[in-house]
This record gives sequence, C-alpha cells and structure tokens, in this order.
Amino acid sequence: MTAAAAALREEGVDVIALSQGEPDFDTPAAVCDAGIAAIRGGRTRYTPVAGIKRLREVISEKLQRDNGLSYDIDQITVGCGAKQVVFNALFASLDPGDEVIIPTPCWVSYPDMVRLAGGDPVLVGCDERHGFKLKPEDLEAAISPRTKWLMLNSPNNPTGAVYSKTELSALAAVLRRHDQVHVLADDIYEKLVYGMDFTTMADAAPDLIDRTLTINGVSKSSAMTGWRLGYGAGPKELIKAMNTIQGQTSSHTSSISQYAAMEAIGGNQNYIAGFVSDFRKRRDFVVEKINEARGLQCRMPDGAFYVFVNCAGILGKITAQGRVIETDMDFALYLLEQFGVAVVPGSGFMASPYIRISYASSMDDLQQACGRILAACDALCENEKT
Ligand code: PMP
Repeated sequence: MTAAAAALREEGVDVIALSQGEPDFDTPAAVCDAGIAAIRGGRTRYTPVAGIKRLREVISEKLQRDNGLSYDIDQITVGCGAKQVVFNALFASLDPGDEVIIPTPCWVSYPDMVRLAGGDPVLVGCDERHGFKLKPEDLEAAISPRTKWLMLNSPNNPTGAVYSKTELSALAAVLRRHDQVHVLADDIYEKLVYGMDFTTMADAAPDLIDRTLTINGVSKSSAMTGWRLGYGAGPKELIKAMNTIQGQTSSHTSSISQYAAMEAIGGNQNYIAGFVSDFRKRRDFVVEKINEARGLQCRMPDGAFYVFVNCAGILGKITAQGRVIETDMDFALYLLEQFGVAVVPGSGFMASPYIRISYASSMDDLQQACGRILAACDALCENEKT
C-alpha cells in the first residue's frame, strides 16, 4: 500500500500514507554523530559476525538494566534488523514439518519466514474481545509434538496489544507442560507503551530462559529503521547456529550502524519520552476520530504506533461508483483511490475485516486523513440509503 500510495503521489494525486511501519522522527543527533565518527575514524571494516564485542556488552547491560535479564556476550547476536534475527532463528532451528505457533493478527513477515525456513505456520486467532491477545487455552490446543516455537510479539504489530506480566505468566504455565516448545519474544516495540509496564517473557518466566529467544533492536525505539540493526539474546547453542547462518549470508550489519547503536542503546535515551508523548497524543486523536466514523470501531491500543480498526460495519456497502465493498482489501483500495488515504488491509496480518492505521505521521496529516476517512464512510452509508 505504501508503494501504491507513492506511485499515485508521483502521478500528482494527493495521498496521505498511514501505511508505514516506521517512526516519522529523525534519528537522534547523538546517534548520527556516533555513526559519522565511526566513518571518519575509519571504523568501516568487517566486524565479528555476532557483532562488535563492545556493542554486545552494551546490549547485555541494556537487557540487565531494562529487563532484569543476565546474558553473556556469547549469548547475544546482532543482525541486519530484528527481521534478520527472527529469520536466522527460524532458519537455524526448523526442520521440515516443524510447527511454529503464530498468534494472529500478526506481523506480515512471520508466516512466510516460517515457510521459507521449511516449517509450518500454525495460526491461532486472537479475539478482539480479548484484546487481540493469545489465551492460554488456545495455546494449549495449538501445541503438537511438532511445535518448535511460539512467536510472541508485544507490543503487537498490527494491534498495539501489550501483554501484562500476569498474562505472560499464564502462557508460561502452558509452556512448562511442553518441553519441545521455545518462545521467540519479539520486543521491537518495547519502548512504545502508553501507561502500561512492559514485560518480556524471559522476565515473566525466568525458568524458561533456556528456551526463550529475546529479540529487540533500534528501529522503532531510536527511529533507526534504515540503519538496519537488531539483536537477539538466547541459549548459547542457538545463538551459535544463528551466527553460522549469518556468517554465510550477510556476515554482519554495517560497522557504522553498530557504532551508532552503541550510542542508541548505551547512551542518553531521553528522546524516547518525547516520542512516546507525541505518539500518545496522536493515538488518542485517531482512536477518537475513528470511533466517530460510521461503520468503523476500534479499541484503544496500549503500545506500538498502530490502530487496528474493525470495518465489519462497512462490508456490503456500495461506493458512488457502484462497487460493493466485500473485503477489507476493497475498503483499503476505496480509501486510497477515492479519498487519497493509504492504510493496510487486515488480511495482510491474517485478520479480517480490519484495516491498520499507522499514526507515525504528523498531527496535520492525521487530522486531514481522519477527515477523509469519516467522509468516505459517510459516503458509503449515504449510498446505501438511496
Ligand atoms: N518485528 C515486528 C513486529 C515489526 O513490526 C518489525 C518492523 N516492521 C520488525 C520486527 C523488524 O524490525 P527491524 O527494522 O529491526 O528489522
């Protein structure tokens, strides 16, 4: 949708993109300076595959400080974004036919990554009425002797759902009964929570640490999506296997990004409070507006920068051009083509009928875009009457 929005823009159409998965803030100046200093200082050569030792020390300190987790540096690997770290983990561990439980709605990449690595994704729907969160009984029912991983993403893309410590403990109680299941905790949105405490699985269930891989990065917390740096912390053997794979593919992420990340993770992070406060205002605005739209309804998400909107009330309605909106994809295309707003259909996240609105945009854009969405819904409802 972002690409479609960009193409329309190039044709001169006025499009507001609310489809992006990245903060609209600039990378903090001190982080940029650290990258520039690395370039000027000639620190531009190959690094160890697992990442520069000092960076892994800084990550180890961060995991201790923020999450109460103790990891040696040989239990930490750095890759080209959290994305590559997830991929390395799946590639290193899955045999053909192994199953990976993915609670849905989920990040679009998980199921395909599992398939690429030869595994079978097992999608488990999480009810909107339960805050889009996985229930222990549904986890229990999805586990089989072939289950290798449970993918947990909190705060969640696309729903913004955040698991509390109690909720994680309830899931851990199920996992204790099944030794074969490992947990991949994708914490990439850790810092973007609004009024809730963040807890990661290895902290909620320290006894499961030997089968937990904690993944995080700098993309969302330090507005560094283009720098491509993420990391994973977990059992030594798994990290070693992940490094073997990375050693034969990308080798490592850019040395420059690694020096910048030392500053992002180990330096002053006061800017995060500013990001959080801006995102929170935008979230509140979007949720209020969307709930005023006819046929749309959404929950107040606790984290990330997305609002996941139920558009069941729109299905079956007819556009001014005489087209019936049958799916969330039809609705997303209608918003893009007729009203110049790009959003992502829920089908991309294995959940329908929903649309995902990213509020990582200026307040001006959000105001305009919400006005257009309200008008788009009004137009559909008016057509129905005539
Ligand atoms: N996990 C989730 C849930 C995401 O939404 C994203 C980015 N969209 C990533 C991982 C990947 O982040 P990175 O930029 O660090 O590869």
